[in-house]
Amino acid sequence: MKFLAKLAFAAAALAAGSASAQTYPNKPITMIVPFAAGGPTDVIARIVGENMSRTLGQQIVIENVAGAGGTTGTTRASTSANDGYTVMMGHMGTHGAAPALYPNLKYDPTKDFEPIGLAAGTPILIVAKKNFPAADLKAFVEYVKANGDKVNQAHAGVGSVSHSTGILLTSQIGTKTTQVPYTGTGPALNDLISGQVDILTDQIVNVAEQIRAGTIRAYAIATPARSPALPDIPTTKEAGLPGYEVSAWNAMFAAKGTSKDIVAKLNEALVKALDDETTKKRLLDLGAVLPSGEERTSAWLGTFVAKEVERWNPVLKASK
Ligand code: ASP
Repeated sequence: MKFLAKLAFAAAALAAGSASAQTYPNKPITMIVPFAAGGPTDVIARIVGENMSRTLGQQIVIENVAGAGGTTGTTRASTSANDGYTVMMGHMGTHGAAPALYPNLKYDPTKDFEPIGLAAGTPILIVAKKNFPAADLKAFVEYVKANGDKVNQAHAGVGSVSHSTGILLTSQIGTKTTQVPYTGTGPALNDLISGQVDILTDQIVNVAEQIRAGTIRAYAIATPARSPALPDIPTTKEAGLPGYEVSAWNAMFAAKGTSKDIVAKLNEALVKALDDETTKKRLLDLGAVLPSGEERTSAWLGTFVAKEVERWNPVLKASK
């Protein structure tokens, strides 16, 4: 009797589960952005979210939960109900670098999430305020080395992309700057434009428009090849710092245990957004590198996150 009751309960739960996946989504979805509005993670979330909303027939509401290099919002996402109504836009920091820098991190990027899909690859650029006293990357390196803590280096909090790629840069130059943390690189960029801070290493989608407008100075892009969005900006290799090659990424995640059907629906909507001409153009204009082929699957993202955590751990421990 007991066994039969249990069986009936399990069958009912299963039916309810698949029914909810079938009707999903029937209310708005919250997408947590673990950084301030206006930065790259926020911009990518809003661009793909807008198109995904149309596919899913429900609004995707962006909620900025900034703090602690993105780990505050990511912790919130990992503990939210796993019903597909709260998802997040994470990145190389929250799901790659953070474990190396936070010994008491409350989530495990490889265990506490269902990967949905990669949204964009984002090359890193070395940028500075407009009147930073260096004409090219070689002069930049010399200046930063000579002036050390007189140089104010902005970043989006410990463990963020700008922080980890920033310490990678200064450790390669062999100096230490003064670190100026923000809740995201949206506000950091505003202060770079107004000259309150001196330098920043950040994701291309945040800086491309300002570089084109000439409100900030770009020294190099840290990828093996130039970006079609910024064809005049040399690579670090061309500009004389070949060892500094680093690229970041943004990707969507749901809480662990979110049903496979719901994850598949979200992945399909994301892939559709990346194939949509308008969405694609907006991302490419900002310099994003769009995932292709197997890079678009949830399974690929799961494997990639595990590799990223492994990759960043020794690098960041060594450069600390
Ligand atoms: N690009 C930022 C970082 O440095 C985060 C953001 O504002 O999206 O991690």
